Amino acid sequence: MTRERVAILRAGLALGFVRPRVACIGPTGRDAFYERWLADGRAGDMRFLLHHVKARLDPRTRYPWARTVVSAFYPYAAPPPPRTAWRQELRGRIASYALGRDYHAEMGERLAQWARAIEDALPGVRATGFVDTAAIFEHEWAARAGVGWTGKHTLTLSEDLGSYAFLGEILVGAEIEPDPPVADRCGSCTRCIDTCPTGAIEPGYRLEPRRCISYLTIEHKGSIPVEMRPALGEWVFGCDLCQVACPWNRDATSPPDERLAPDLRRILSLDEAGFEQRYAATALARAGRVRLARNAAVVLGNTANPAAISALATALHQHDAPLVRGHAAWALGALQDAGGAAARAALEAAVGDPDPAVRAEVRAALGDR
Ligand code: SF4
Ligand code: SF4
Repeated sequence: MTRERVAILRAGLALGFVRPRVACIGPTGRDAFYERWLADGRAGDMRFLLHHVKARLDPRTRYPWARTVVSAFYPYAAPPPPRTAWRQELRGRIASYALGRDYHAEMGERLAQWARAIEDALPGVRATGFVDTAAIFEHEWAARAGVGWTGKHTLTLSEDLGSYAFLGEILVGAEIEPDPPVADRCGSCTRCIDTCPTGAIEPGYRLEPRRCISYLTIEHKGSIPVEMRPALGEWVFGCDLCQVACPWNRDATSPPDERLAPDLRRILSLDEAGFEQRYAATALARAGRVRLARNAAVVLGNTANPAAISALATALHQHDAPLVRGHAAWALGALQDAGGAAARAALEAAVGDPDPAVRAEVRAALGDR
């Protein structure tokens, strides 16, 4: 098997995967933790986490033929944003992993190629690749295989690569010699915890997704809790702050990328065709047009810049989605100190909105004064 093992890992490297490693499949032993986690409601709107729970805890319950998990990083560039004054220029910020083509498509193709290479190396053996849409505890298998360790922010990281990488897994129907796990190098560091603007990273290597900006801007479907809206700051899709703070990412250097700081007023005004054209092939499609516009409204409200009022007033009066109109009302309320009469007039003109949730947001925004 040694020769085949080398061929398998080399095939992954040739396809752009980094630190390919192997773990024996078996129960994760995380049953009590995960059941408690779900019972606490931490999945929020991520209903997919409620499905195939047994398979997450032991992949063999769904893939009885599997004997081994091959796991690896698939790195992405993490450029800094352009040097913009986001409040003055009314620009938001998107997480760096979302730049370019949707990683699910790109990684999925490469994992399929890797799986075929494994089947070629091990004739008669089945191999199937998974990206993060599958019921696989990715970080658990990456840690077991020694791809990296699970940091206090609950992402996988390694000394040589840091954490700017997706994870991919291939289940293989043959026993392959496993790699040892790597040591946890977080030590006494607490930078990610100290940096997180919402307090989402809890002691004990735990994350409260419902407080995480990534969850709130991408997965959360409805109204963003009012108390969390200011904490979004400039983030309109995802958040990189805990990764930027991590010392193991200090060597990640790329030139600044304009696409990280999109025009908020443009996002707020996109119609379905415009959204499809601009974002359908990117990871931002997961949030969709309405949620992205909802987020843009919140960030515009966080700018304290009266130049945002006109676009927010248009959204409040004309946007087809009540979710967006409601958040535009909140944002106008937040801008009343900056915009005075114009923000208030826009709110007063919307007191008769046909949607009760929007009317409640308008009343709350006016009632704050
Ligand atoms: S992604 Fe942002 S909000 Fe979420 S844990 Fe990291 S720093 Fe906190
Ligand atoms: S910032 Fe520090 S504590 Fe957080 S993941 Fe990185 S090394 Fe670990």
